[in-house]
Amino acid sequence: MDSAAELLKYYEVYETIGSGGFAKVKLGRHILTGEKVAIKIMEKKELGEDLPRVKVEIEAMKSLSHQHVCRLYHVIETNTKIYMILEYCPGGELFDYIIAKDRLSEEETRVFFRQIVSALAYVHSQGYAHRDLKPENLLIDEDHNLKLIDFGLCAKPKGGLGYELMTCCGSPAYAAPELIQGKAYIGSEADVWSMGVLLFALLCGYLPFDDDNCMVLYRKITRGSYNNPHWLSPGSILLLNQMMQVHTHLGYIDEDCITEMSVSLKISRQSTLQLVNEWKYDQTTATYLLLLSKKQRGKPVRIRPQLPVCDVMSCSPQRLGVQTLLFDDDDDDAEDRCYDDDLPWVPLTPQQERATCPSAEKRRDQTKHAPTPEREPIAHHHRHQERRERCRERTNENKENVALANKDADIFALPAPRSPVANRKATRPNKRVLTTPTRNNTNKVGNKVDTPQGGGSTCKDPSRKRLRERVEGKEEEEMELLAFSPERRSRSLDLAGASRGDSSQKRRGGKVFGSLERGLDKVITLLTPSKRRGLRDRPRRIKAQYNVTLTSQTNPDQVLNQILSILPEKHVDFAQKGYTLKCRTQIGDFGKVTMAFELEVCLLHRPDVVCVRRQRLKGDSWVYKHLVEDILSTSSI
Ligand code: ADP
Repeated sequence: MDSAAELLKYYEVYETIGSGGFAKVKLGRHILTGEKVAIKIMEKKELGEDLPRVKVEIEAMKSLSHQHVCRLYHVIETNTKIYMILEYCPGGELFDYIIAKDRLSEEETRVFFRQIVSALAYVHSQGYAHRDLKPENLLIDEDHNLKLIDFGLCAKPKGGLGYELMTCCGSPAYAAPELIQGKAYIGSEADVWSMGVLLFALLCGYLPFDDDNCMVLYRKITRGSYNNPHWLSPGSILLLNQMMQVHTHLGYIDEDCITEMSVSLKISRQSTLQLVNEWKYDQTTATYLLLLSKKQRGKPVRIRPQLPVCDVMSCSPQRLGVQTLLFDDDDDDAEDRCYDDDLPWVPLTPQQERATCPSAEKRRDQTKHAPTPEREPIAHHHRHQERRERCRERTNENKENVALANKDADIFALPAPRSPVANRKATRPNKRVLTTPTRNNTNKVGNKVDTPQGGGSTCKDPSRKRLRERVEGKEEEEMELLAFSPERRSRSLDLAGASRGDSSQKRRGGKVFGSLERGLDKVITLLTPSKRRGLRDRPRRIKAQYNVTLTSQTNPDQVLNQILSILPEKHVDFAQKGYTLKCRTQIGDFGKVTMAFELEVCLLHRPDVVCVRRQRLKGDSWVYKHLVEDILSTSSI
């Protein structure tokens, strides 16, 4: 029995709703229950050595059950294909939701981000690191809740999440510095960094670290410097800062803090450095870490001038607790109560301390166990010393640990871009301007996802209106999609091979940049004559969704013609099916397809407004955003 027949025994298969690095995803319906599902289809031949990754994803998803993790229902494996039947999330990708709204308010971000944290806390608690967190991998379900998908790059270190990983993978723009530098890293910590990038994207509508040139991008990430836009609240700035911390005290010492300690305390730099490096968690450690914390909050890196009362490097243990508390980051109120900048700094006795600040005793206990300001994994707080120990004990047991030569900070584990920047210019005409095409449109559509159809859906009743696709192993009627562009900054990839120079991995890299789509399902769209006529004669009526751009025009043909006239100008190839334009760009290296998306001229149910439905099928989400914005704004619809 061929692959398609096995699938079709249980499911009806409809249109493609997305595609990723490994798979094509189609909408389906479970015949017995009538429930909609997402069918992730992978061609074994094309997966090649990525096949184990699919197995990893399946095993992970089988063992994960959480309200914010997409549920796996069924796995069908045939000689040639693997089908994963997943919970269907009709609201589309969080990415599209963000760009449709420009950026999210802190209130809305809070709701989504809590769900993300809850999903990741759960994933980490089960011993997994996701390693490919990005808004494209968070889908919105029909209740407007998030579901985490794409566990193809996840890792479950055998010894637990505290064990370091080596495989450099994920999407460059979201990757933690240690990862792109090819260093060993703690999977959950790398996830926390990516969550910081994700949080920034939610709040700002663009990426904190971004550049056309990958090497420049990697440098920005390793420096960890990004600008906080003016609309961010101090709370958001602090949280972002804590999540996107480049340096931990493992090996890295902040120069400014050392200078301040050395100058203020009149100790040579070298001695200060030595003392700090001992990590005794004494007054020295506390002073250093608290200065660092001040710096990270944008406060001056300053030790109070009245300090000579007590030498920081030789204070009594009681004093240490007080001082630590006085600077305590987690409780600004307490700081206000206990630490008055205008008062001379004098050490308090424990009694005084209790009297001045009743919660001090309690907090001193907490302080003993306070996390360092480095990124903390969501579920497991790994102390660095323990980690060092474990690191020493580490054996080959963890297959993620591949011997890598020590790298200098500027050597990146990710490859340099293969396509000239100039190639991308045409698709990214206005890279820094992140306005959506609807920004200046007074008809801007509401943001609520008020349809169960989601981004890729074309109509409500699949039996009557949807384009029925059946897997028959024939030539695909859809446009042949060819390849990913190397510059796809948020594309997920495993680049260990690139840093190792290992030929098998290079082959895989080549595959990533090569023809990922070629081997995916050969699908033929069977259209009945009436459906074809329907498609050509008039546009579909749809509900307002966030991936819909409203126009100011009333004639759909005019809108269609305007878009048609702009596409060649933007170097976009297209195939027209009625009011649907299947678009692709061939602007990458060797004329390969870098982007595939659909634009469909539709009518809104009510009022009678002409709109354009957009859907990304392939390619870098951010590049897609710029390109579609450009097309729609130039079309002056
Ligand atoms: P890959 O493993 O190849 O990267 P993904 O799992 O990321 O593939 O899926 C590719 C795209 O398909 C997603 O970005 C999303 O747009 C769509 N998709 C995946 N799973 C679902 C789902 N459960 N419901 C709706 N759309 C989905």
